[in-house]
This record gives sequence, structure tokens and C-alpha cells, in this order.
Amino acid sequence: MEKLLRIARDSGLIGVDQTSLDAFASSGPQRIGTGDARIYRHSVHTRDGVLYFVGAAQGEKSLFIVSESRVPSDFVGTSARTGGVSVLKASFSPENAQRLHELFPFTAPVSLRDRTTTIGCGDRLGLATAGQVRAVKRYDVAPVLAQQSIRELNLTGRDYPTVVADVTFLVFQEGYEEGYGADGDHLKKISDIDVALAAGMPMITLDLSEVMSAEPALWSDGRVEEEFQELGADVRKHVVETYADKTFRAGGSTIHIARTEAMRCALMYLRALDFSKAVDLHIRARRGDRYDLEISIDETTAPTLPQHHLFIANELALRGVMVSSLAPRFVGEFQKGIDYVGDLGEFEKQFAVHCDIAKSFGNYKISIHSGSDKFSVYPAIGRHTGMRLHLKTAGTSWLQAVLAVARADPGLFRTMVAKAVASFPEAAKLYQVSADPALVPDPATLSDAELPLLLERRDPRQLLHITYGGLLKDQSMRAGIFSTLANNEDLHDSLVEEHIEKHIRLLGAPRKP
Ligand SMILES: [Zn+2]
Repeated sequence: MEKLLRIARDSGLIGVDQTSLDAFASSGPQRIGTGDARIYRHSVHTRDGVLYFVGAAQGEKSLFIVSESRVPSDFVGTSARTGGVSVLKASFSPENAQRLHELFPFTAPVSLRDRTTTIGCGDRLGLATAGQVRAVKRYDVAPVLAQQSIRELNLTGRDYPTVVADVTFLVFQEGYEEGYGADGDHLKKISDIDVALAAGMPMITLDLSEVMSAEPALWSDGRVEEEFQELGADVRKHVVETYADKTFRAGGSTIHIARTEAMRCALMYLRALDFSKAVDLHIRARRGDRYDLEISIDETTAPTLPQHHLFIANELALRGVMVSSLAPRFVGEFQKGIDYVGDLGEFEKQFAVHCDIAKSFGNYKISIHSGSDKFSVYPAIGRHTGMRLHLKTAGTSWLQAVLAVARADPGLFRTMVAKAVASFPEAAKLYQVSADPALVPDPATLSDAELPLLLERRDPRQLLHITYGGLLKDQSMRAGIFSTLANNEDLHDSLVEEHIEKHIRLLGAPRKP
């Protein structure tokens, strides 16, 4: 390995000096080199006499492949030959990621259905994986590292193959071999699901908000009875016999479904449940049972009633849908980027019932969406789920990147805040926040040292959380953010690591021995 590393250096494709190379080969730090030229220790792997590692040169990371015979020709990149040795510098492209999946299967996303605690670690920039992995690997939890909704892809100008490729190479960089998931988040259409599946993503979060009907929730009992009569005779018989005026026991909870409520559920959900079945069969036909289907009903206006959750859970089970996790809408507010807003006691009481239903009807994980920064409810969530849960975070890693910029480049951060204020009206149409941009201080009036503190205050925090689309669309700002984070990689990685670790710790996840 030492010899091959030296040859890689001599090839001129990576500029690491002799002293640091010697230190690295003899044990040394996690990573060698400073500034432009780096080799990542945990990425160094050999396979069939060929050396693979992640290195950075001129601010850009690449996969280096070094061999005394010939480097595998299926990677695309720039090659050099010195003294009978071949060196290939391969870009972090989706095509090269696929080659890496074949050579090192731990770099490919997998189903996490059998893992008890899973944490969704969305990453809008494709740079957060290292920090996320370093946080997760100290605990008994499995990460879903690639996790994006179509909305996020549109706002960040990325696509699923790129999202998976970015994670693939950083997982390789970190030498993280314990398995990670990839989630096509909040998908509503089979055509979008196909794009995620084609990119190798094993987890699909099916958002039912458009196929279910919200209106019957507001109808009078008379109207519900009337509309229910329009359904087929078999369906009516099944719904009435199974649910009307029935009492169900689930763990410590008792749930009674009144006759009209049973009918209301049928009117609201049956079409969405049939669609879930079709989606489940569709995914199964492509992936066998190596997939995780999450059902999401969280993007609705009212909290999910226990009666409705039970109806949905039982109907999914009757249809044989393989549900790995389900996201109800909980009582209170799960706003982006800030702690829970609402009555903690009421949250815990209702959350316990949802957990009982999940355990008794289908035994799936309860999934908590917009889970970033909900520190005050984590202990209750950990307790009632017994850590069998899925927690989704995304924007919070982006905010740690923003924090890194605030510390490393105050000038750039000031322009980002100004741009965020200008982008707010557009962004606020897409996200549930209560931020008031008028309450965000003018960053020009703040000292450099005061800037990072903005991210500890609700209004600027939410503002920066949701306006990433506007910030990243500005090409010079986008380039500035990426180069600042590349030049301050340690700061960025450790800010992400610290913050994700705090989420996991407060949930009560057991630390690994
Ligand atoms: Zn959601």
C-alpha cells in the first residue's frame, strides 16, 4: 500500500508531500495533507492488488485507483502511467459510483427493514455524509444517508443518481461498512418512484396526501352516511362489519370507532389504500423484498386521529402491504428547524396511542417527519417506541453548513442572509414556518462574532432553513458556499457530527460499547 500511495503521489495526480506520506503510511492521522491535497485514511482499500482511495486535489475530491498492472477499465477518469504503474483519477459521478457499488458492496444503499432504529439524514448539498456517519457509528442506529424529496431536488438542482453517488463516495471515504439506506422521500407518483428505484434507492416514502380525500373530515354525519351509500355493497359490508361501533385493544390503548367515523375513514382513505397496494406490488416486482416502504400521511392540515391510524394500519395489513414505517401527523407543530411547539403532555399521551397501533397492527416503525431539532419531544419518542422508530432530519444538516459559512466567511454569510430575506415569500409557500423576516436583524449591523448566533434564534434560523433553493440558484453564491465548505472541511464535518449526535443521544439510542 505504501508503495502504491507513493506512486500515486509521483504520478502528479495528487500532490501530497513525502513527509506526510511517510507519517500516513506508518499510522498517523485520519487524513494526510492540508489545503489542496489530501488522502482520507479510512478510504484506503485494496482489492486484487489494486489500491483505491479518496483524495482531494485542487479543492476537488476524486477516487484514485492505483495498480502495478492495469487499473480496472470500467471507471471513467484521467489516467497516468509512471514506472510501469497505472494511476486513475475518477470523478464522483453516478457511473463511477455504480462501479464502486459492485467492487465494494458496502458503498451501495440497502434496505434497513430489519434495523430497529433508523435516522434519516437528508443532505441538500451532498457534503454532509462524513459528519453524519461519524455521529451515527457510535450508536446502535442505522442511517438513511441519501434522502431527498422531489421538492428538494428541484430546489437544489440535483437528481437521484447524483444524490446516491455523493453519498456512495463519502461512505467509501469514511470506510463506513455497516449499511445505509436511501429514501425517495415524499413521492406521490409511480413515475417518480421509478426514478428513485432506478437510482438504486431501496426506501420509498409514499405520500398519500393527494390520493386521500381530506374533505370528508369536515362533512356532517348525514353527508357521510349519504356518500357512503355510493360505495360498492361489498366494501360497505366490510367496513361496517369490521369497524362500525367496534372497540379495539392495542397494547395499553383502547380505541373505539363510531359508526359514522368508520364510514368517514372509508371515504377518506380507501382509494389511497388501494394505491398503496399497487405501489407495494410495483416496488416488490423490482426489488424482491429488499425495500422499505414508508406510508406518509403527515402532510395534512389536522393531526391523525387514532381511529384513522388504526383503520389505515388494519386495511394496509389486510391488503398485504409490506409497511416498514408509517408517518402520522402528530398533535402540535413540527415546524422546520426549531423545537416542538405545543403541549408536551398531550403530545406524549397521543404519541403513545400511535405507537400501540403501530405495534399491534402491522408492527412497523413510527416515522417522525420534520424531526430536526425537536429535542424536547425526543425523550418521549424514545420511550414509547422502545427505539423502534424512524426519525427524519434534513434541513438541520444544511443549517450546520450555513453555520460553518457564518464562522469561516462572514462576508459570504451576510450576503446569504440578505438573499434569504428576499427569497422568503417564495419559500414560505412550500414550508410550514412561523418565521417573520422583519425580525431578522440586518447582518450588516452585526459583528463577525455575532453572526453565528443568528442560527440560534427562531426567525433567522427558519428563514435560512427554508430558503436554500433561492440561495443555491444564485450560481456565484452556490460556488461560494461549496468552496467555503471544501476549504473548511473539518469545521463543517464536526458541526454536522455534533448536531446529529445530539439528536441521537437525546432520543436515548444506546451507545455502542
Ligand atoms: Zn413529511
